[in-house]
Amino acid sequence: MPELPEVEIVRQSLHKRIREKKVRKVIVRNRNLRFKIPLNFSKYLKNKKIIKVKRFSKYLIICFSNKTFCLMHLGMSGTVHIVDKKIKKSITNLSFYNSPNLPKYHNHVEIIFENFKIVYNDPRRFGFFELIKNRDLLRKRFNHLGPEPFDKKFNKNYVSNFFKKKEKSIKSFLIDQNFVSGIGNIYASEILFLSKINPEKKVSILKKKDCIKIIKNSKKVLIEAINKGGSSIRNFKNISGNQGKFQKYFSVYQRKGLRCKRSRCKGIIQKKIISNRSTFFCNTCQK
Ligand SMILES: [Zn+2]
Repeated sequence: MPELPEVEIVRQSLHKRIREKKVRKVIVRNRNLRFKIPLNFSKYLKNKKIIKVKRFSKYLIICFSNKTFCLMHLGMSGTVHIVDKKIKKSITNLSFYNSPNLPKYHNHVEIIFENFKIVYNDPRRFGFFELIKNRDLLRKRFNHLGPEPFDKKFNKNYVSNFFKKKEKSIKSFLIDQNFVSGIGNIYASEILFLSKINPEKKVSILKKKDCIKIIKNSKKVLIEAINKGGSSIRNFKNISGNQGKFQKYFSVYQRKGLRCKRSRCKGIIQKKIISNRSTFFCNTCQK
């Protein structure tokens, strides 16, 4: 499943390719995604000029010159492919997961530009598109979500106030999008390892210095993952020929039974299900 760093990498590549470009035509081949693609989708996009591609959490935001927007969410298995009209490239996928080249099936949407098109593929259909008419509605759309780890609002007052009198574990909060947006399951384990905090610890007993560590390490882990090209569990190359490398640097994720990477720690990495998700941690240095 694409997490924030993977979505950010798709954003960067997509932005480079489609900014200042005008949509010529849109073909909707299959409307069935998590939410049905709106009936006016093709008409809405046609002849619109794209000024940039932004991102909030795991949502891609295509911004048009007339101040309207189109949200794109990749769900569990959505990928974006760039297909050039003249130059045939075997690698079309802008992300590191799933097929590197355009699959035959499950191509839901084609957005056609002058010399190329982008194709949205989604075999599991948990992704979606949404049209947003103005800036105000865009802001409201994300109202219910907590700040991103990079946001100034994600600070020690926010975090310690949020945790007051709460009984749930720190792991469950890190993947709770109402608290903070965009930290997925993989990265939550890594953040808690770096912070030396046991994932099952109740947030009400966390100290201020623990909150500060969590804030700092949330930024650190996500920025590192973006810089290393996102974490792909599978081993594919993206359009520029690079591989997502972050998975080689996991300290705890999917390292059950292996020695802790922290020097001088003799701990063994444990796996436990917390909030229905696999959680990895060191039984010795994470208190
Ligand atoms: Zn350890």
